[in-house]
Amino acid sequence: MCITKNIKQLKNKIPSTVTLVAVSKTKPVEDILEAYATDHYDFGENKVQEMIEKYNKLPKDINWHMIGHLQTNKVKYIAPFIDLIHSVDSLKLLKEINKRGLENKRTIKCLLQIQISKEVGKFGVSYKNAISILQESKLLSNVNIIGLMGMATFTNNKNEIEIEFENLNYTYTRLQQDYTQIKILSMGMSQDYKIAIKQGSNMIRLGSTIFGKRKNK
Ligand SMILES: *Cc1c(COP(=O)(O)O)cnc(C)c1O
Repeated sequence: MCITKNIKQLKNKIPSTVTLVAVSKTKPVEDILEAYATDHYDFGENKVQEMIEKYNKLPKDINWHMIGHLQTNKVKYIAPFIDLIHSVDSLKLLKEINKRGLENKRTIKCLLQIQISKEVGKFGVSYKNAISILQESKLLSNVNIIGLMGMATFTNNKNEIEIEFENLNYTYTRLQQDYTQIKILSMGMSQDYKIAIKQGSNMIRLGSTIFGKRKNK
């Protein structure tokens, strides 16, 4: 796996308006350093413990993205350094992030994870819920909801994926009218990022395309 080559090829391929988050979960710090050496600074992890271990070993100008489901009791561990939390799926979680942001004297950037797939077991809130969380967030001064995140159904049916991303982009555009701080649409993974970009994504989260297949864990 040539990480350097993969990152460079990807960046040549995607529009410059799309931010690439390199999803390094399960991969060693050596792999992250190889990507970092190409002047890449955005990395995504889905487990708090693993992110902390990597954070401690790696350069401090890395922007860490929490992309996995986040438990309320673990927010405190990442609050001092996290750049963007993609997976906010409840007001309770947002309030905890706000509390820990305040403790660390920082405003923590968040995305609301929207449920766009019909698959059970995927996290995320409905459009209606998103509006009420955005409304409540006006009272929280140490969090800033700057966008939305969504995961499409795991399927080979490209049409189904396309419809889900199209719906999320529609939700994004509507919410932007009332909440002007919304400017990030995080959608697209290795298997569906091309469809996501076509449907308006400006942040893609790619793991295996950059680092190679993961062992099941
Ligand atoms: C693992 C993961 C990714 C990256 O998956 P790949 O298929 O390896 O690109 C993106 N987003 C989330 C939320 C993930 O958990």
